[in-house]
Amino acid sequence: MPRNGLLIQHDWCTGCHACEVACKQEHNFSEGMVGIKVDEVVSTGPDKVYVDFMPYTTRFCDLCTDRTKLGEQPACVKHCQASCITYGTVSELAKLMEKQPLSSIFAPK
Ligand code: SF4
Ligand code: SF4
Repeated sequence: MPRNGLLIQHDWCTGCHACEVACKQEHNFSEGMVGIKVDEVVSTGPDKVYVDFMPYTTRFCDLCTDRTKLGEQPACVKHCQASCITYGTVSELAKLMEKQPLSSIFAPK
């Protein structure tokens, strides 16, 4: 059975947090629990401040198995307006990653 995961393209992320909200609502998680988090990384240049957003899955991510077994996309994938998150098999995601170098694969067990 192929292993599934998420490919997240970091530099497309706008920091909107819709993925976190969608994940929380889908699972009815209680306070402090969420399957995906978005961190802000602030760096300073000579005359500018840069903010990068870094989405990553947590140990609570179950890859939305209740949705995907019905042929639906995970909640975070569906609600990301910037199309940063792709769901698929790890081997499919690895191929896609060749074209999206600023991305990471998350494959929770
Ligand atoms: S795949 Fe599902 S459980 Fe995992 S982060 Fe996305 S919405 Fe949350
Ligand atoms: S929904 Fe997409 S754009 Fe918004 S924070 Fe999550 S990964 Fe980034």
